[in-house]
Amino acid sequence: AEARFIANNPLSQKQHTLAAGSLPGGNTRSLLHTSPFPLTVNRGQGTHLWDEDGHRYLDLAGDLSAGLLGHTPHPAVRAALLTALDAVGLNLGATTVQEERHAALLCARFRLERVRMANSGTEANLHALAGARAFTGRRRVVVFAGGYHGGVLSFPGVGEVRGNTVDVAEFVVVPRYNDLEGAKAVVQRAAAGGDLAAVLIEAVQGAGGVIPGMEGFLRGVREAARAVGAVFVLDEVMTSRLAPNGLGVELGLEPDLVTLGKYLGGGLTFGAFGGRADIMAVYDPRLAGSLAHSGTFNNNTLAMHTGYAALSEVYTPEVSAVFNAKGDALREQLVVVARGTRLSFTGRGSLIGLHFTEDGTEQIQSGEHIKGKERGDLRDLFWFEMLEAGFWITRRGFIALMLGTPDEELDGFIQAVSKFLDRHSDLMT
Ligand code: PMP
Repeated sequence: AEARFIANNPLSQKQHTLAAGSLPGGNTRSLLHTSPFPLTVNRGQGTHLWDEDGHRYLDLAGDLSAGLLGHTPHPAVRAALLTALDAVGLNLGATTVQEERHAALLCARFRLERVRMANSGTEANLHALAGARAFTGRRRVVVFAGGYHGGVLSFPGVGEVRGNTVDVAEFVVVPRYNDLEGAKAVVQRAAAGGDLAAVLIEAVQGAGGVIPGMEGFLRGVREAARAVGAVFVLDEVMTSRLAPNGLGVELGLEPDLVTLGKYLGGGLTFGAFGGRADIMAVYDPRLAGSLAHSGTFNNNTLAMHTGYAALSEVYTPEVSAVFNAKGDALREQLVVVARGTRLSFTGRGSLIGLHFTEDGTEQIQSGEHIKGKERGDLRDLFWFEMLEAGFWITRRGFIALMLGTPDEELDGFIQAVSKFLDRHSDLMT
């Protein structure tokens, strides 16, 4: 399959070689690197992509969930962008009405008392943690194995904090996901000495394999954080799309702070963090000793316009409900097709994770549970063959549906998965 990939993509290979002349590894977003070389994509339209060699793909990766709205701007988003460009101007370096409007909408939609904007989900999480530390006067943070909160806040395994750009090892503790007793013990231990500032968690681990947190686990972790006076921070950068008011509201998690990003900028660069007014007040510049929250583009004109349009006119609560039901239906069909094979699916709503494991377990509660059982060889084979069949997913098996994906093409994907499993039946059990 890899040899065919190379043969089919000479122009992408050539472009990769060229790119490596100015970018280390030809890359500026590590996740997008794939061996032997990444495909260079030069156009997107609706829910489709075209690569340098002219192949067309159904985009099932949806830019790791940020591309929820599709590659062609919705007319409302397009109109907002043009208004910003023509009638307002590029970044004004001043407080604007649009930033207040988008903030008020985010607060209403995700039940936040106050919110502040940033340029990415990573920044939103960094600011939320800084805020929690300032509010509590404490330093330590608990995050979970498999948790991804941005490039500098990525925690692959239990106890693993190395490899992060910001050297936080001393202050960060990493327990296993979906193990409530273990997590409680870790929170209590971390809180010893009164130094636990925050617990940061995803209600569905996204980059960590699209693994839903069990409701009892998530609520239990919230209680454990509350009991020791730590700020419970829910990272909704990916999961806010999963329910009309975000997954925290849907699951009744009552987070102290919430972080947001991705599609909420309407396709432009965006992040936000917010929640309890008393905590967010640490960022109130009218108060003595407040924390500075800087960022030239925090309230950038274009994203404030497009984000507002996206949330108010495109991804309405009604659309969110229908869209995620569609994702659930797709996953259920995939589960049926793959039953009894080494392929299994996890996820919730419009986010789907696919996993190849030695025993094909359908009960994947964390990356830790399948460590050592993963079949990376089958996952790679699947990826090469899905690309050949015209389906764009990530190498690691991440699917994030985009609005407007044609039903018949999703049926085509299910058929392609089924054919793959038949074609390689010898490898699949
Ligand atoms: N948190 C989560 C849960 C994410 O999925 C991501 C991005 N994949 C981030 C934070 C970081 O967001 P950004 O890439 O915008 O910095």
